Amino acid sequence: MQSAVTVLGLGPMGRSLARAFLDAGLSVTVWNRTPGRDHELVERGAVGAASAEEAVAASGLTVICVVNYDAADAVLRAAAVARALKGRTLVNLSADTPERARETGAWADRHGIRYLDGAIMTPTTTIGTAASVYLHSGPEDLYREHRPLLEALGGTHTHLGEDIGRAAAYDIALLDVFWTAMAGYAHAVALARAEGITARELAPFAQGIGAILPPLFAQTAADFDDGGFSGEGNPLTSGASSMAHIVHASEAHGIDAGVMRAAEGMARRAIGLGHGTDGFIRVAEVLGRHR
Ligand code: NDP
Repeated sequence: MQSAVTVLGLGPMGRSLARAFLDAGLSVTVWNRTPGRDHELVERGAVGAASAEEAVAASGLTVICVVNYDAADAVLRAAAVARALKGRTLVNLSADTPERARETGAWADRHGIRYLDGAIMTPTTTIGTAASVYLHSGPEDLYREHRPLLEALGGTHTHLGEDIGRAAAYDIALLDVFWTAMAGYAHAVALARAEGITARELAPFAQGIGAILPPLFAQTAADFDDGGFSGEGNPLTSGASSMAHIVHASEAHGIDAGVMRAAEGMARRAIGLGHGTDGFIRVAEVLGRHR
């Protein structure tokens, strides 16, 4: 039986993608390495395939969303699956590095598989809603051909260019923002508790700090791209001093301050190179100097 789309990988994200395709009225075939993850989807009308090759053969478009590219390779590079994919389109929404995406693009080319790479930038709860965000890269005409189907997932879809690794490059840079921010937040919560402050008490003020960041991203992006680095109002020397207080307060409570020590170290290095009056984003330029 033919479907509009096949979804390989039924973890939380794969299941959400399949559900959104179904909710959009599309016929969907699904498969997962570990059987039994498709019950709810089959109840909703999806076809559960017995093997990955059977799933791929059911649709012109296959979306794979598994933990990483080792997992994707384990599924896709099985000879029968690669054969079934020949002449069809594969969209890889699993997360990994740009290098792995480019390697997969080259593998797809060698096997006559039409390939788009992508990244999902929002949690499972957003899939199928206007709040979801998808990044795509690869051949423009292939993207255009499949865009209507991909847009059934809702949200915002952006094609970033023909370099197949570009979506993954945005993904790792954006996840860098996310995970370092979350590491900072987790550390802040631990430090606050040591001072007798609950996470609930801290949260509204933490949200206030979070709200300062979006305009700062835009402002410092211009500084970085144009080489301005203005530290007027908030020079690196002042930032490094504030970071040192956090390190001292944490370590006085026996709380590891490794993340903040790393941040302070970057700031001190830039200061040591003569940039103490610049803004914090000078650190990004210093980090990139070895290239
Ligand atoms: P996971 O990252 O835990 O991926 C689970 C899926 O990967 C399952 O289908 C699992 O199959 C499969 N898998 C793992 N190892 C293998 C393997 N060796 N061979 C075949 N399949 C394998 O959960 P998610 O579904 O949440 O994430 C999928 C992708 O989506 C990830 O790359 C993630 O970074 C990305 N993503 C997820 C978000 C989220 O909110 N969850 C948000 C944005 C992106 P099995 O059931 O057999 O173990």
